[in-house]
Amino acid sequence: MKFDVAIVGAGPAGLAAAYKLASAGFKVVVLERGREPGAKELYGGRIYAYWLDKYLPEFRKDAPVDRWVRKERVTFLTDDKALTLEFSIVEKEKTSFIVPLVSFVSWMAKLAQNAGAKIVTEITVDRLVKDDKGRFIGVQSGSDTLHADYVIDAEGVNRLLLERAGIVRKLEPEVVAVGVKEVLKFENKKTLEERLGLGEDEGLAWAIAGYPTEYLPGGGFIYTYKDSLALGVVVYLRNWSKLKTPVYDLAERLRLHPYIAPLVKGATLQEYGGHMTPVAGINMPPPRLYYDGLLIVGDAAGFLLHTGVLIRGVDFAIASGVLAAEAIREARSPSAEDLSIYEKKLRNSFILPQLEKYRKADRLLSDETLFRDLTLLSTETAHKYFNVDENHRTLFEALRDASKKTKVNLVKLMINMLRMAKSL
Ligand SMILES: Cc1cc2nc3c(=O)[nH]c(=O)nc-3n(C[C@H](O)[C@H](O)[C@H](O)COP(=O)(O)OP(=O)(O)OC[C@H]3O[C@@H](n4cnc5c(N)ncnc54)[C@H](O)[C@@H]3O)c2cc1C
Repeated sequence: MKFDVAIVGAGPAGLAAAYKLASAGFKVVVLERGREPGAKELYGGRIYAYWLDKYLPEFRKDAPVDRWVRKERVTFLTDDKALTLEFSIVEKEKTSFIVPLVSFVSWMAKLAQNAGAKIVTEITVDRLVKDDKGRFIGVQSGSDTLHADYVIDAEGVNRLLLERAGIVRKLEPEVVAVGVKEVLKFENKKTLEERLGLGEDEGLAWAIAGYPTEYLPGGGFIYTYKDSLALGVVVYLRNWSKLKTPVYDLAERLRLHPYIAPLVKGATLQEYGGHMTPVAGINMPPPRLYYDGLLIVGDAAGFLLHTGVLIRGVDFAIASGVLAAEAIREARSPSAEDLSIYEKKLRNSFILPQLEKYRKADRLLSDETLFRDLTLLSTETAHKYFNVDENHRTLFEALRDASKKTKVNLVKLMINMLRMAKSL
């Protein structure tokens, strides 16, 4: 059987492309190795709405949304101290929302199917198939080959198929982080809201630095779903060997921290998982994003922005899927020359310009002293400032004494903070 377009991966990127192409009358098949779309995915929990309004405005009508984010929290956490900053949005703006990715992806899968795309699950693609001129003409799973005029690689961060096709090299530990996550279910949504200090249906996005990663680059996160929350830790793969705690125990270790434990007491563990995520931004895409017969979208293309406090992968994935669909619609043939329009579209969209803008983010965030210094100094300064004894300190004295105690080099930290302000 021959299709116009074969898409590998029913994640946000693949499904966005499938939906737009099927809506334009293309015969589309999506091949997904999971039991259902989204079953193999793991993410934090927040999707930014701004670009979705441009690329998938349908979402405002009937996509599942557990909670709109009303509170942004950032905590510097040590073994026994926590310093928290909170930003509350009083106005009922709808700029980002929290939802389990599997629910959102299922909604996207229905959109694509209703438009006519065929989604086949529990099938693993082993290879992208080329003809003898090097043009991609389909995909292979086991002994079956499926032919298509165009192939879209939306396989996510592992990009094993791109590696097998000789397009990228084996994934280097430098360019990926690994996330582990638990979903904790509360007896009811009221308990969750009271514990987390939220009004009815308000959502919280919480980033936690320091303790969750044993002060190494990366951090912890909490996102509130309807009556459960996602609690997890992201740590750079290159630092695995420096951790004293096994990676798969990091989420539990954070859950048991005395600052977090009372908030989740009595909640039951509903899910646990781990997944990689690309972190090198613009330094990670394959040499090209289009080849004869092939386009690369989403995480497979390295389209993810991570600035320490926020992580954006889903909106990048959806937008790149939509742009790949547009490129195929406009291309006169599957030749790389005609498909090069995809890269032009990426340059004219937010995707490549924003990845360019945050080019230095990855290098800065992987500085091993930054998280340690910031966390230790900020919490110790707060401790010295708030703890009134015979030597009641000014804020400056608290900072000076904290720097002495933690041995944090203030000048170096100030320079790093300036770099952070410019690059993150
Ligand atoms: C811990 C963590 C937290 C995150 N938090 C957020 C967040 O809060 N907000 C946000 O916007 N982003 C977040 N992200 C990133 C986000 O999850 C990804 O950027 C996004 O899912 C990428 O979409 P995608 O469609 O490109 O790839 P994926 O979602 O990974 O989908 C790829 C699909 O391809 C399938 N597949 C792979 N290989 C094959 C094969 N050979 N054959 C068949 N099927 C295959 C997989 O099963 C999968 O379903 C997070 C990521 C992690 C790891």
